[in-house]
Amino acid sequence: MKKILILGSTGSIGTNALELIRNNREQYQVVGISGNKNIELLKKQIEEFKPTSIYVGSEQDALKLKKEYPFLKEIYFGENGLAELSKNSDYDIILTAVSGAIGIDSTVEAIKREKRIALANKETMVSAGAYINKLLKEYPKAEIVPVDSEHSALFQSLQGFKKENVKKLIITASGGTFRGKDLAYLENVTVEQALKHPNWSMGKKITIDSSTLVNKGLEVIEAHELFNVDYDNIEVIVHPQSIVHSMVEYVDGSIIAQMGVANMKTPIFYAFTYPEKEFNSSINFLNLIKTNNLTFEEADRKTFKGIDLAYRAGKIGGTMPTVFNASNEVAVELFMKKKIKFLDVYRIIEEAMNSHQVLSLNTDNALNIIKEVDKETRKKVREQWEK
Ligand code: NDP
Ligand code: MG
Repeated sequence: MKKILILGSTGSIGTNALELIRNNREQYQVVGISGNKNIELLKKQIEEFKPTSIYVGSEQDALKLKKEYPFLKEIYFGENGLAELSKNSDYDIILTAVSGAIGIDSTVEAIKREKRIALANKETMVSAGAYINKLLKEYPKAEIVPVDSEHSALFQSLQGFKKENVKKLIITASGGTFRGKDLAYLENVTVEQALKHPNWSMGKKITIDSSTLVNKGLEVIEAHELFNVDYDNIEVIVHPQSIVHSMVEYVDGSIIAQMGVANMKTPIFYAFTYPEKEFNSSINFLNLIKTNNLTFEEADRKTFKGIDLAYRAGKIGGTMPTVFNASNEVAVELFMKKKIKFLDVYRIIEEAMNSHQVLSLNTDNALNIIKEVDKETRKKVREQWEK
């Protein structure tokens, strides 16, 4: 029996994970879950899975849930609550599926306890990858298995081969809702349009990120941090069908790809079962004949600047990826509140990066520096753009 802690259980990844576990109750036990505002769903999950530890956003909700469900042993809330949940509850695997850099501390705590981290929360690797990698060296039994579909594909395609024989990582991108559109069109697109993803059903923040291709940029940095491959050897190509989830090209000319339906259950479950592959009745299988054509094309990086901004941030290194991520998080929030236009997202990231004095993370104080820079970046963007 594996004990699972799910951060962000009320979200898109979290509910998929619970569906997998629902079909495999003999092997997996949900020991902890977390929601922020969606209390109704959190309550349903508590009733069904009977966890002993939870996190919820507000103290008021925490107190209510404590009264209602006396079997809950630990209830956390507020700023450090998620990290406390990760630090104290009794689990084998933690699935980090909250959205944004708020997930960093819980991953840090899980590494210190040398747990398996099924990492969906890509912003952690982007904002704090340099620190996380240093920490992983100090706690060698901790392991990160990526859940992001591209990184799960890369991870799987790297199994069994020597790293020095990798020529490049090829990350696929659907191209997003606005594939093929030009800047004149993008100037006036709405939140509602941006929230319609052609292939994937996901949380709102990542869906907006997919429409700007900042998501692909985040994934380039995430891949660099997870697999320690130079930026010059990481390529992005558009594959509109989202069937090939990413590929590794080797020095002998062979390309190993991982394919499957565009559904997060396979990568989530693999992060639970790795190094094995196991059956789960809620997983969907690919029908290759119906899939028909698989096509590949170059990404339009001039229009969708999210990719190049990420390469720039990643190559500069230090605290620049933290600034890339933090400025984007605020920009997406402001776009969703209709306070800025779609293309302002790029302007905001670019401005934040241009005005940032990069700091080295090659110090014992790296996590504090990351947090300071993250906070400062958010503040500056808000001051300038939140009217
Ligand atoms: P969702 O927006 O669907 O879910 C986010 C979860 O985090 C919810 O449980 C939400 O709680 C909780 N949450 C939000 N804000 C806070 C906060 N301030 N404090 C504590 N908890 C909070 O996101 P997704 O599931 O789509 O994505 C989760 C992560 O996985 C992201 O990092 C994303 O990039 C990554 N990912 C997602 C994929 C997908 O297919 N969805 C694919 C690849 C990666 P509540 O709803 O109760 O308020
Ligand atoms: Mg992805």
